[in-house]
Amino acid sequence: MLVNGKNECIQCTIENCAYHAKSEDYCTLDKIRVGTHEKNPTKIECTDCESFKNQA
Ligand code: SF4
Repeated sequence: MLVNGKNECIQCTIENCAYHAKSEDYCTLDKIRVGTHEKNPTKIECTDCESFKNQA
């Protein structure tokens, strides 16, 4: 659920993403998908937000 244009359940610091709330470190989407680019993910760096969209 969005509160003041941000989803307080999804904290995010990726300001380059079109869906970032900008004024605060939250996502503005209702939900996101997290995935991996690795065959056998073992570290934080192996995980990706697959809902990321580069801001224009
Ligand atoms: S879509 Fe993913 S990367 Fe973009 S603001 Fe939301 S959580 Fe962050």
